[in-house]
Amino acid sequence: MRPPAAAPRGGLMSRRKKIYEGKAKILYEGPEPGTIIQYFKDDATAFNAQKKAILEGKGVINNQISGFIMQNLNAIGVPTHYIKTMNMREQLVREVEIIPLEVVCRNVAAGSLSTRLGIEEGTPLPRSIIEFYYKKDELGDPMVAEEHITAFNWASTQEIDDLMALTLRVNDYLFGMFGAVGIKLVDFKLEFGRLYEGDMVRTVIADEISPDSARLWDVQTNEKMDKDRFRRDLGNVTEAYVEVARRLGIVKQAGISEVAG
Ligand code: 5GP
Repeated sequence: MRPPAAAPRGGLMSRRKKIYEGKAKILYEGPEPGTIIQYFKDDATAFNAQKKAILEGKGVINNQISGFIMQNLNAIGVPTHYIKTMNMREQLVREVEIIPLEVVCRNVAAGSLSTRLGIEEGTPLPRSIIEFYYKKDELGDPMVAEEHITAFNWASTQEIDDLMALTLRVNDYLFGMFGAVGIKLVDFKLEFGRLYEGDMVRTVIADEISPDSARLWDVQTNEKMDKDRFRRDLGNVTEAYVEVARRLGIVKQAGISEVAG
């Protein structure tokens, strides 16, 4: 029997200062000023947290997948908050000021786009579409236009340009990376932060990139390998995430026990 892994337990971890607890992650003060430790929980939520569950091992897999992707993005010159993976559930990241937007990029119609515009799920889009949502749980993260973003000072025009350019680069890179292992990148959500370095401010990718925040379909079968398995009660959620990690070469075996701690 494994001990429950939904929250950090014992020892050093419990003495750390918690900065913030979200739906799927906890942020702790990092070892150096300007650093933060991101702890990945097993909690899964959907539909603005109306649906909840604990999926054993999910946090471990998402920590590995997101760490792998962020590391690769850093390596190709796409700035992210990621510094290093510390252990099974934790990564060290730079402290940033979060821009209150979710940036969604879509290649294939699915989810809210299909519902809102009546376009059948699975229809390829003529070009990649970027959408902005205002991060506000109480309002269910409403979609917003650039006009709202600049009028309410959520981000500047220059920052919106940066968000769009970075999102398209990430899409190009991830589309190829997943495509190479037989996975179609249907859509994904990014979050960004402002990284202050002296009197310079840089826009960097923050939060996570994982099957919790992307739609990933098997190229051959269109089988869903992402959080829609949880949202739509399709079962085998963590198993699908492990398969994504296995195809990316992050874990060797398809068994959760290989990676879950
Ligand atoms: P949709 O707008 O179709 O619901 O979502 C588009 C994409 O963004 C999906 O890959 C979905 O997982 C991701 N996404 C949208 N909102 C959120 C959110 O609040 N949290 C997470 N983890 N992903 C989101």
